[in-house]
Amino acid sequence: MFNKEEFKENAQCIIDWITDYFSNVENFPVRSQLSYGEVKKSIAKEAPLVAETFDVILNDFQTKIFPGITHWQSPKYFAYFPANNSIPSVFAEFLTAALGIQGMKWITSPAATELEEVVTDWLGKMIGLSEQFKGVIQDTASVATLCAILAARERISGFQSNSKGISGEKIRVYCSSEAHSSVEKAVRIAGIGSDNLVKIKIDKECRMLASDLEKAIAEDLSKGYKPACIVGALGTTGTCAIDPIAEIAEIAVKYNVWFHIDAAFAGTALILPEFRKMISGYSKADSFVLNPHKWMFTNFDCSVLYVKDEKQFQETFRLVPHYLQTNLDNEVNDYSNWGIQLGRRFRALKLWFVIRSFGVKGLQDKIREHIQLAEYFEGKIKNSKWFELAVPRNLAVVCFRFKSEFQSENENLNELNADLLERINKSGEAYMSHSIVNGKFALRFVCAQTNTEKRHVDEALQLIFSLAKEMT
Ligand SMILES: *Cc1c(COP(=O)(O)O)cnc(C)c1O
Repeated sequence: MFNKEEFKENAQCIIDWITDYFSNVENFPVRSQLSYGEVKKSIAKEAPLVAETFDVILNDFQTKIFPGITHWQSPKYFAYFPANNSIPSVFAEFLTAALGIQGMKWITSPAATELEEVVTDWLGKMIGLSEQFKGVIQDTASVATLCAILAARERISGFQSNSKGISGEKIRVYCSSEAHSSVEKAVRIAGIGSDNLVKIKIDKECRMLASDLEKAIAEDLSKGYKPACIVGALGTTGTCAIDPIAEIAEIAVKYNVWFHIDAAFAGTALILPEFRKMISGYSKADSFVLNPHKWMFTNFDCSVLYVKDEKQFQETFRLVPHYLQTNLDNEVNDYSNWGIQLGRRFRALKLWFVIRSFGVKGLQDKIREHIQLAEYFEGKIKNSKWFELAVPRNLAVVCFRFKSEFQSENENLNELNADLLERINKSGEAYMSHSIVNGKFALRFVCAQTNTEKRHVDEALQLIFSLAKEMT
């Protein structure tokens, strides 16, 4: 039963804990130093039969769970893509948890649906999408892309695939060889099959070759295949390469193929007017996804999918059993018709808190600062005696490796680079990940964490250079 005094006292402990955490996050080893099994070993094998106290649980959290945490909110986090939070986002999550609503239909919490309509419109405008695109908040880009491919599958089958299945249909999907693995996963799940995912070659800078895409589609058509969907990357995961969106859009229109843009990370940069040229031709796309949970300070999970033809999109997913029918179904927007899951978290609230607390200008300043810091890092790497860029920097992503002249001293340059990466991450002083660029192992530095400042980038550079000195 709810006890007001006890709640306040315990809530204060949580607030104090979070305050300390945010103040000290950069002092913890970024990547957890534990090895596999250590956390599990420290936790009770059986669920407790009787209630345990808050103090005991919080203490175990501190001593048993915390050491096994990798600090994604550390300003020294430069790995993968970030999963950023921010204070307003955390506050909104408090409220979301307290309300504990499930926003499957408008009637199950009108504010959840209506706020989602408003904030996705706000964000669409912020990134320069036309008002024709309507947004839905999904958990992840993986699921958003699956939804786009399912809608494309339904469209190419003349709206028959949901009822009749697709056995014998020769449906094809196209992406570059650098597209995110979620595209292949989606094609498998959608019953299209990996063999029908055509991976188009890339140029030296890891961008899809649009001319090869057109050739592949024309050839498939001549063989009786049905080209259903092209997935273009606005920022690949490996190097943040930007596929030629305008050229792909022309091809998609010419052959009447669904065009989905995967802008999971880099989409956020579109809030900067100077980067809009990346997206020219976007209005011809059918769908577009970006993850505020990566680079827009909205804690995981929050992925916004935009679709141009919302009616057609909903046709793919709408299935309303009698126990969910209401007499408002034709008048209101029920977001459960916009995707796979029925139950939905109230994710719009944190996006609303974040956009309002930063302001569009505040968000722009932060993104611009991240890109400038990445440019600074790129310059220092380029001018060092040890390293070269694996590919020119894209936005906040820098891929680099030891120069090939170090090969003479070391049998395998790939191994030398991998060894450097492991030394960086083992130190706990920074966390980076890797990419394979044109067949070569490269270290990958992403400067996009909410709290990263120049001093953190300088410290990372010092660490890299001093390790490089030791190793060569
Ligand atoms: C991160 C990423 C994804 C997957 O994002 P999730 O939200 O974790 O599913 C998809 N595409 C690209 C280009 C990405 O960088």
